[in-house]
Amino acid sequence: MPPPAILAFVAVLGLLIGSFLNVCIHRLPRRESIVHPRSRCPGCGALICWYDNVPVLSYVFLRGRCRGCGTHISWIYPAVEVANAAAYVALAVRYGTGFTFVLMAAFASSLIALIIIDARHQILPDLITLPLLALGFASSPWSPEVSLTQALAGAALGAAAPAALLLLWKWSFGIDGMGWGDVKMLAMVGSFLGPARALLTLLSGACLGAVVGVSLMLMRRGTLRTPLPFGVFLGIAAAAALWWGNDVVGWYAVRLKAAWGTGA
Ligand SMILES: [Zn+2]
Repeated sequence: MPPPAILAFVAVLGLLIGSFLNVCIHRLPRRESIVHPRSRCPGCGALICWYDNVPVLSYVFLRGRCRGCGTHISWIYPAVEVANAAAYVALAVRYGTGFTFVLMAAFASSLIALIIIDARHQILPDLITLPLLALGFASSPWSPEVSLTQALAGAALGAAAPAALLLLWKWSFGIDGMGWGDVKMLAMVGSFLGPARALLTLLSGACLGAVVGVSLMLMRRGTLRTPLPFGVFLGIAAAAALWWGNDVVGWYAVRLKAAWGTGA
């Protein structure tokens, strides 16, 4: 486990990159540049000074309002920064602070951005899923999580399984249960985690979505046709698959082998 000073540095790095994630979350769905111009208040258009843009602290100090006009600023912004920092610290504890940490930190940050963007806009930008899919392939020879073959198989299964479900759902109900963004997102998950955990992500994400969908129907706040942001459930499921997936897959593998008798 890295010493406390290193973990503190990782936490601050997580907050700063979380702040950049907020820029991506705000601008990518609007097709705006993520490098310039500088951030402005959505209420009054005033440029946001560096000291009003310190992760979490500025939000607490300004009590969630713009200094100039008092426009309410969503609590989602500091929540993204804290979630990203917590993810980085957890990853540093598990993987140390080498190449694997950088890789998994990029994967975790992209999941956080996808979850929030899908919840807000019901889209999963190609600008996140496709570069990360490429990163998953390119890094796989050095990744302790997957081999290149597993990354390719994971992306193929990750794309094929939801694509089949999507077409089947459309054929059965005449509506889109998921979008092609979900297909690309799960391909990306597969390139980082391999085929077994891509499938686990799809199954647990679908279960989570079903629980939420049925709950909404029971509360009479939705029907079978209410569109749910499936990417949110996939993102949560992928994070869980990164953390616990190998244990779950291993548990099933042992029982499958026992069921087949001798074990192959
Ligand atoms: Zn303002």
